[in-house]
Amino acid sequence: MNENKNRGIIVIVSGPSASGKGTVVSRALAKADDVRVDVQLSVSMTTRGIGKGEVDGETYYYVSKEDFEQNIADNNLVEYNSYAGEYYGTPKDKLEGWLNAGSSVILEIDVNGAKQVLAQYPDAVTVYILPPSFQELEYRLRNRGRDSEDKIRYRLAKGRDEIPEAHWYDYILVNEIIEESADDLLCIIRAELSSRRHIEYKIDEVLATYGKEEDQQND
Ligand code: 5GP
Repeated sequence: MNENKNRGIIVIVSGPSASGKGTVVSRALAKADDVRVDVQLSVSMTTRGIGKGEVDGETYYYVSKEDFEQNIADNNLVEYNSYAGEYYGTPKDKLEGWLNAGSSVILEIDVNGAKQVLAQYPDAVTVYILPPSFQELEYRLRNRGRDSEDKIRYRLAKGRDEIPEAHWYDYILVNEIIEESADDLLCIIRAELSSRRHIEYKIDEVLATYGKEEDQQND
């Protein structure tokens, strides 16, 4: 469907706060080379404060509300949403460059952002990370010690409202063991790169080589 046939794929990863999706994604990125998966992470922009153990430019680009709104006005974002009173969005600049260079790109974004991306990139693959239970989710939220009691309640309620949306995602990973979920995510990307909808163009490319001399094939 795309003009450039060697493009990578967009992999949208969503899941409630503290489902462990950030850790799953970073473990998958760390292992990607070993299994020959060429994948990049899209670093989102946010107005929320920097959390414990987070790094500006790696976890998020942390910006002011004014800067974020300027980026919206300048059409620099593929999608954006507000969550718990803060903006989150996907910068446009790097995404297209990576896709055109043949890398796949993981977007760790919420359900609302996923819908906006799918409207522009219908071939994007969607993966939902489910926590094993709400008890486990609450434990993880408390354990990371980033949020006030109010925010924890808010995030749990948000999770309950959001999880039914997992019904329309292509893949669902129940995140019990981080390493297994990370391996599964890489398997999904590899399988999708071989899916007919992604690689069907190769059939005609191969057929076009029929009967040609070897030295003409690379013209
Ligand atoms: P957190 O504050 O826990 O890092 O993220 C809160 C929510 O915002 C999560 O559901 C996360 O997936 C989502 N999020 C992070 N980056 C983006 C983004 O660029 N766009 C959208 N729409 N959501 C995002």
